[in-house]
Amino acid sequence: MPVFIQNLGVSYYGLKLYRREYGKKFRAMLEEFEKQQWYSYDELREYQNRLLRKLIKHCYDNVPYYNQVMRGRKLKPEDIKGVDDLKKMPLLTRETIKEHGDELLAGNVNQKKLVIGYTSGTIGVPMKLVWDKRVCLVKNVVDWRQKSIAGIKPGDRMAFLYASAVVPLNRRKPPFWRYNWILNHLHFSNYHLLDNVEYYVNKLSAFKPKAIEGYPSLLYVLARFMQSENIVIPVQAVFTSSETLMPHQREALEAVFDCKVFDFYGLAERDVFATECEFHRGKHLNEDFGITEVMVDGERPTKAGEMGRIVATGLHNYAMPLIRYQTTDVTMLASSECACGRSFPLMENVTARDQDFLVTADGRRISPYIVVGITRRFTNIREHQFIQEDGNSLRILIIRSDSYTDEDSRALIEQMKNVFGEKMNIELEFVSSIPRTKSGKFRAVISKISAEF
Ligand SMILES: [Zn+2]
Repeated sequence: MPVFIQNLGVSYYGLKLYRREYGKKFRAMLEEFEKQQWYSYDELREYQNRLLRKLIKHCYDNVPYYNQVMRGRKLKPEDIKGVDDLKKMPLLTRETIKEHGDELLAGNVNQKKLVIGYTSGTIGVPMKLVWDKRVCLVKNVVDWRQKSIAGIKPGDRMAFLYASAVVPLNRRKPPFWRYNWILNHLHFSNYHLLDNVEYYVNKLSAFKPKAIEGYPSLLYVLARFMQSENIVIPVQAVFTSSETLMPHQREALEAVFDCKVFDFYGLAERDVFATECEFHRGKHLNEDFGITEVMVDGERPTKAGEMGRIVATGLHNYAMPLIRYQTTDVTMLASSECACGRSFPLMENVTARDQDFLVTADGRRISPYIVVGITRRFTNIREHQFIQEDGNSLRILIIRSDSYTDEDSRALIEQMKNVFGEKMNIELEFVSSIPRTKSGKFRAVISKISAEF
């Protein structure tokens, strides 16, 4: 298919997206949320309490799992008056979501208007999640609220570099990007990046984006090249997310793009959203999006300077509400307030996820986000781990669910070969458990081939 037709396809999709996500409703809500970020602590609490009461009542009336949990604890909706009463509810683990997924769905929502997604989080186990339109809109709004802090508005020229191939994997010549004319967005392929950095930099220079957004590790590849060639492409802001942004990466990006980096943290579950303000002193938890607790052993809130697990209660998803959802991410709350005056609490950087890269038969490096992005669609795989010992073979340990079939194996191998090439020997190994590291961490990817960036 000619490139311009594909661009049109991307743009047609963009038009639909634009109407859905940037229409009147979006603009009105963005205006409202821009005011909310200046709420005093008391105003914010009042807002959270009001939304929480409404959500709890909905859960009691319409969500079988929560109805049962609350009855079991002899709780009525009026027993939870606000954030301080949240502790009366139990923590929700990923295991519970997997076991009771369907009972977490509200019985009174229009099933046709829902968005379904799968997340593997940090531990490589796919989990089905369901969102309603409202939470999708709010998520979009809080994203643009942070962009607005950086001086970026919907419609501004933006370039994106996320884990997405965008163009056919076997393409050897540019373009390695697609342009969405409606949104004014340029999407780069991550898959072709390492062998074609110069083309990417030239394209960026010609496109003159107002902002750039992507994974730190991918943008850092561009920055390293630009530093070695003494190239500077000034933009208004760089947004990074999904991986832990290392200080040296931030420094390099700020130098080559002559701007500030705004790193943000958005839980795939759409319960937590944390963003940098103009002071860049950590990330503000957007507490009008969800209520965030940081807890030790699931028992108590952290003390100052202590690390703990993020426990999230989304305030806007009525399709599959997650109350006190225990995430796999660990963080630390900052003890001081931010000079900007927002009462959203500040979070230090979340701990790093394992960022090992796999290598294709012809020497290309593959982000774990790509492979995990593929496997998470296989809902019959309960848990998996990629192990690579050399450049020609890749071992995948798999814990199957009861409904796993040979077709799953065939499709998985085929999709892996699409990424790693036909020559890669893909071995599936069915196991009953997957060992953890000494510190008890699960690693979705273990690469024994060093890939340096
Ligand atoms: Zn601030």
